[in-house]
Amino acid sequence: MRKLPKSIWIDFQRSVSGLNDKSSPREVLETVLNWLRNNEEMLSDGPFAAYGFGRFIAMDEHKLPVQHSSMIPSDIPHFRDIILRYNEYDLEPIARFLSDTIEEIVVLQVARPCQNCGFNSMKVYTSSFTGLLAFECSVCGYAEYSNGVKIQSDRLDFADTLTLEAAGLLSASNA
Ligand SMILES: [Zn+2]
Repeated sequence: MRKLPKSIWIDFQRSVSGLNDKSSPREVLETVLNWLRNNEEMLSDGPFAAYGFGRFIAMDEHKLPVQHSSMIPSDIPHFRDIILRYNEYDLEPIARFLSDTIEEIVVLQVARPCQNCGFNSMKVYTSSFTGLLAFECSVCGYAEYSNGVKIQSDRLDFADTLTLEAAGLLSASNA
């Protein structure tokens, strides 16, 4: 797949054009997921497959900490304007941008210093191999388990709200 079917892309731009700074991150997420789920056939190859969009359409977003998203109101018109600027040939940047946006909405970021680069913000996942919480640096990609052991090879899943609450990570400072 080298480009999106034009009608499918226009359809998405039309639904995104209604978003504004009064919209919530959850509305952005639902707009994107609805479009992806209605057009699942385009996710099986090309950039959407490379970025692992299968895990996005399979996730249960109601169990994820969307209300703790780092997305702020002014990010939403910015998201809309970028989508309106792309056309159906911009497949690779569209896939990358949507992947980054979904992660920004559903993955909790906490203050935790990266052992590799020192940046003080990490994204929280769960390890499908060990079940432990896993922290990934937003800047350099370094990842470690909650016990500080570096992650060599693992599959990281989205951490759900209940798991994050139980670990005490959904404090007022992240709300
Ligand atoms: Zn880092």
